[in-house]
Amino acid sequence: MTDRLYYRDSFLYDFDAEVREAADSPRPSLILDRSAFYPTSGGQIFDTGTVTAGDSQIKITEVADLEDGRVVHYFEAQDSVPHSFKPGMRIHGQIDATRRRDHMQQHSGQHVLSAAFIRLSNLHTVSFHMADDYCSIDLDTPTLTKAQVEGAERLANDIILENHPVEIRFVTREQAAQLGLRKPPRTERDELRIIDIKGIDVSACGGTHVNQTGQIGCILLRKFEKVRQGWRVEFVAGQRAVATARRDFIALTETATLFSAHIYDAPEQARKSLEEIRSLRKQREQSLEDLAAAQALSILAETAEENGRKVVVRTLADRDMNYLKLLAQKLTRTSTNVIALLATTSPQPALVFAQSAGQPFDMGALLKEVMAKLGGRGGGSKDMAQGGAPKAERFETALAEIAEKLL
Ligand SMILES: [Zn+2]
Repeated sequence: MTDRLYYRDSFLYDFDAEVREAADSPRPSLILDRSAFYPTSGGQIFDTGTVTAGDSQIKITEVADLEDGRVVHYFEAQDSVPHSFKPGMRIHGQIDATRRRDHMQQHSGQHVLSAAFIRLSNLHTVSFHMADDYCSIDLDTPTLTKAQVEGAERLANDIILENHPVEIRFVTREQAAQLGLRKPPRTERDELRIIDIKGIDVSACGGTHVNQTGQIGCILLRKFEKVRQGWRVEFVAGQRAVATARRDFIALTETATLFSAHIYDAPEQARKSLEEIRSLRKQREQSLEDLAAAQALSILAETAEENGRKVVVRTLADRDMNYLKLLAQKLTRTSTNVIALLATTSPQPALVFAQSAGQPFDMGALLKEVMAKLGGRGGGSKDMAQGGAPKAERFETALAEIAEKLL
């Protein structure tokens, strides 16, 4: 078993220890007789830092719990400098204090928040998750309201301001049973580590915590969403809350600047813009429809009938496939004897072939034939087919060839 120095003092950032094991594979790792490094467990993520022995220093990049109670410290192998750690060697460990303080603020923040949800709404926390950017708790409840979330945030921040002492105690299971723990302990061990936020919350927990709730700084609740077993509430505490609020402010300011509006007016401005876009889109569709109908009439008027049919061949520019389809529909539905071979050169080179219902050709087959020559792809039904080609260069010749066949 590794003697876990963080169990008694979360503010111990450096320590001396002795190497018990040093391995190169599967990952370079160290096991020490004692360690202040926190291994990932109980929802809290690991510490990082350095281990030094003489001239040799390594960066600890991950710390994990082994089943037999030992703590394993993983480090990055440096090919050029083989590490020289051997069992029995004395080392000095240094924890990344900024990261540790952040984890203490998040984890103690979680205990306070969980207590606040119980006190206000009798909602119990079933799990806690800490990631690099945000944290979350899952509450055992079928419903959660905005008022409950805002109430818990307010109460949690009051508890932080009241600066309650946070005590670490070790008790037997029988003693623990008398303490009214927030949640039954998960471990089978005879001795339990208790985190006691005086007057607020008593929990069995192995994590690193602040000494006074004031050191949490503040807590900011973010997204809350329904999950399989209840409701998930995301939060950030301490400096992380400040950094998150800063990021939010920057994003909101950028958005507001786009609208030349105050940040609090940004949602209303965005809503107005979306409504405007929707209405303009509708108007544009109607205009294109009208334009296609007018263009179809003018094309049909200038196209002579041959063998009882009008074969329309047109190459357009700056019209998309949708407009081409619209025009093809207007052309072939206005009369019963029209065949439309349409192309657009930009923005994307594309072809649309269509015929009035009852005409004898197969537009799908004709289009495939042309596409095979142009190196494009497409298909469709007997009366309407569409496709895209990589280049528009040979469109005119290809369309003329097809038109020839149809006459
Ligand atoms: Zn905990």
